Amino acid sequence: MTMAPPAPRENRHFPRPPGRRLRPVTGMNMEKERKTLDERDQMSELERIRHSCAHVMATAIARLWPDAQFAYGPPVENGFYYDVELEHRITPDDFARIEAEMKKEIKANHRFERIVVTRDQALEDARKGRLGAVCERPDRPSKFKLDLLEDIPPDEPITYFQNGDFIDLCAGPHVMRTGNLKAFRLTSVASAYYKGDENNPQLQRIYGTAFKNKTQLEEYFKMLEEAKRRDHRKIGAEMGLYTLDAEYTGPGMPLWLPKGTAIIEELEKLAKETEFAAGYVRVRTPHLAKEKMYLTSGHLPYYKDSMFPPMEVREDEEEKNATREGAGAPPERYYLKAMNCPHHHRIFAAEPRSYRDLPLRLAEYGTCYRYEQSGELFGLMRVRSLNMNDAHIYCTEDQFAEEFNAVNEMYLKYFKIFGIEKYVMRFSTHSPEGLGKKYVNEPGLWKKTEDMVRQVLINSKINYVEVPNEAAFYGPKIDVQVWSVIGREFTLATNQVDFAVPAQFGLQYKDRDNTMKTPLCIHRAPLGTHERFIGFLIEHYAGNFPLWLAPEQVRVLTIGEDEALIAYAKDLVAELRRHQVRAEADLSHDPIKAKVAAAEKARVHTMLAVGPRDLAAGKVSVRLHGKGHQGAKPKDEAIADILTAIRERRG
Ligand SMILES: [Zn+2]
Ligand SMILES: [Zn+2]
Repeated sequence: MTMAPPAPRENRHFPRPPGRRLRPVTGMNMEKERKTLDERDQMSELERIRHSCAHVMATAIARLWPDAQFAYGPPVENGFYYDVELEHRITPDDFARIEAEMKKEIKANHRFERIVVTRDQALEDARKGRLGAVCERPDRPSKFKLDLLEDIPPDEPITYFQNGDFIDLCAGPHVMRTGNLKAFRLTSVASAYYKGDENNPQLQRIYGTAFKNKTQLEEYFKMLEEAKRRDHRKIGAEMGLYTLDAEYTGPGMPLWLPKGTAIIEELEKLAKETEFAAGYVRVRTPHLAKEKMYLTSGHLPYYKDSMFPPMEVREDEEEKNATREGAGAPPERYYLKAMNCPHHHRIFAAEPRSYRDLPLRLAEYGTCYRYEQSGELFGLMRVRSLNMNDAHIYCTEDQFAEEFNAVNEMYLKYFKIFGIEKYVMRFSTHSPEGLGKKYVNEPGLWKKTEDMVRQVLINSKINYVEVPNEAAFYGPKIDVQVWSVIGREFTLATNQVDFAVPAQFGLQYKDRDNTMKTPLCIHRAPLGTHERFIGFLIEHYAGNFPLWLAPEQVRVLTIGEDEALIAYAKDLVAELRRHQVRAEADLSHDPIKAKVAAAEKARVHTMLAVGPRDLAAGKVSVRLHGKGHQGAKPKDEAIADILTAIRERRG
């Protein structure tokens, strides 16, 4: 089996699946999906298992439907797939049958035999339909394999891997024997074009997953179940956090409801406090800009497909007439901003800068708009309007290491606040072969910045992996991946070092020696976007937000209808609200049991029940969501506890 194109040759054994658009521009690839760390850690073993499992699946399918024509079958995030052309439409109803056939092949414990052949031999076998098949099929040449053979460079050996009677064109590697596959499951079927090109035949893509053992396989599906229970779309709707109004607002543009907005404001408060203490200054920029802005930044034309189409604007009639020559001057084009960087660059350029002004750290919770394909929109995870925890740090080369380190420290601080225990920074570097093509042609700067980043990562003992040849066009980047408490991975943010765009904008500062120099720029967004981060937090907390983040922090519940008691409850709420606590009262006639149930259902963090005895003693009965009754406390003590927990942002 040959694996997916169009990866570079050195990656041909484990390429990423084709299909996703390349996003070469700074600040844009905030939400790229990628392989998990676990997979990379265990690449040799787990990917080998999954890849081998794809062979076994193909073996089973070839036995059940001998006309099957196989194309690609790479390991992917969380599993594997194999693309097949087949008259029969495979549905999940077929999975049990295919799996049963796979088990037979595993039980037979065939060796994965590597066979080196000449190109002529391979072409002959493919013409006879013998590749990706269990027998010769003279009337059915292995057409995709024939095509794939052409992709193998002349100096590379051509190899088959054979298990039992199934022979496939493949570079490997595999496990030793089919019997080494201990735990697998077919998961879904989709359609895909051969080589991801819609001019090619449409194939059926059969997905499966495999693990080292049954326990891990079961844990994985248990995690998926739990993730379903914690689905941010479901919990978001239950809690009334946001709504998507495709009919009026447009798809992928969340309307944040009051309770979701409460969370947003807490996150912004955290970011503002943290950034202020770290020496950032805040700026605000419009949601659109002239075409010139994005031509200069390079987002146009490369990123055009991911931006909303331009608005054409003519200034008022008089000016239009004054500048008119014949049929009139072309209208000005404005674009909705897809990233904040260019605006910040213009703020840098707005005043003369000297080395004394650096580092300059411009921060903004900026709203961006990206034209994601409608089929890719997904709840809060993939949207068209997004609020980014953005900042750009302009600094000298000498300041870079310290600034970059401070950004990392900020991440660690946030991880602690949110109880994120597992994370990794994926440090993507360039490849010398890509210079001038995939990467800006500045070999010296690449080396220098990559060395600096690597040194900071090593010195700070931060958990990172280095991934060659995946940098952004303008500099090395770091994708920050975190795991929710149930073990699901999210890419939250991308940091980039940018040594090219500031020059494109002509950004300069006067150095100590009176020469003009171009600053480096660090793009960073530790809290990602509100959309994705809150989506993550909903799953992470299962909607049970800690007190400081809870949309409704406190609900006062009355036990009884006595006037003095009602007044006591109202005073309590008023006092909490004076302290900026999001407190409400339930003064209804419902029995206390029903009130507690309603508050629990609404995921109110803290319930303060007050009855006649509490009133008499100046006390409240404290109850915490999901944790039950905590005992009675003097009113002032309860309020002080609440304020402290909020101030300290306790988890
Ligand atoms: Zn940026
Ligand atoms: Zn293989």
